Amino acid sequence: MKNPKYMSSVKRIGVLTSGGDAPGMNAAVRAVVRTAAFLKLESVAIYQGYQGLIDDKTQIMNPRSVNNIINKGGTILKSARCSEFRSIEGRKKAFETIKKHKIDSLIIIGGDGSFTGAMIFQSEFKIPVIGIPGTIDNDIFGTSHTIGYDTALNTVIDAIDKIRDTAISHNRLFFVEVMGRDAGHIALNTGIGAGAEEILIPEENMGLERLLESLSRSEKSGKSSSIVVIAEGDKTGKNVFDIAEYIEKNMPNYDVRVSVLGHMQRGGRPTCFDRVLASRMGVKAVEYLNEGKSNAMVGLKEDEIILTPLEKAIKGKSEINKDLVRVSDILSL
Ligand code: ADP
Repeated sequence: MKNPKYMSSVKRIGVLTSGGDAPGMNAAVRAVVRTAAFLKLESVAIYQGYQGLIDDKTQIMNPRSVNNIINKGGTILKSARCSEFRSIEGRKKAFETIKKHKIDSLIIIGGDGSFTGAMIFQSEFKIPVIGIPGTIDNDIFGTSHTIGYDTALNTVIDAIDKIRDTAISHNRLFFVEVMGRDAGHIALNTGIGAGAEEILIPEENMGLERLLESLSRSEKSGKSSSIVVIAEGDKTGKNVFDIAEYIEKNMPNYDVRVSVLGHMQRGGRPTCFDRVLASRMGVKAVEYLNEGKSNAMVGLKEDEIILTPLEKAIKGKSEINKDLVRVSDILSL
């Protein structure tokens, strides 16, 4: 992670947001720009992720360029999925922009795809890189929380609370699909937080039979309405509509409804937790670069900001907390 060659050579940091947007990315950009200024370094914004590097969409930043963005969702730098960056020709073009603007280091705010691109770019062109994990899915190894995750949890909880009002009023069984193709963090935490009857996540295969048994048991015990939270990547291999149809067929007394929360989960004002996390990570990312560290990601562990090599952050698996599965099983009685 530490390379003496880079020591004190950082003068102009490029910063970009890439992959799926997440609330709190703006707070991270603000922290990067202001910390750079604090350390008498320059910062350059790169727009639309790696696409902006290829197309030369950049702007010199100063502390005033990031006024009034800490409270805003999305990313003022815009984000993009950029297939051109996956090819060496694309990355060569990106490096031309870096040379043209005398950018000597990069801070990449994004998810594991963005970090994979960063790692390849770093190895090809020897440009120091620090990653900041920004994704609502919380599916990155090396940090207990990614930027945007806490905001997404609160957005989902709000939505499920509202759905519960209708579920109770009409004796309905609601299947609520939340984001998380590969990781059940959002489903598991919001399921517990919103008092869901059952939670289906990609990491565990609960099976449709068990779900049916559990819901039948609840019905017999006097529950007249229920909420089931399903991660979009649930292991049963069925989508939320298939699952709802199966249950409806087998439990004719229930009025079954499906609600897919979709992209609303990504938006909105970041929570205080995400703003503070993004600020801390942004400060540390610049400090680490300035100390000559590279090819690593900042992360939160036991309330400290730590560094994990990018390769480990990409390859490692962010496990779900098994105790939460147990808590959910006990409380859905
Ligand atoms: P996330 O960062 O949220 O996981 P993506 O997986 O879409 O989002 O990755 C964001 C961008 O990172 C991609 O559009 C691409 O430009 C770049 N990227 C991802 N994987 C690679 C790769 N193997 N090589 C080069 N660039 C990559």
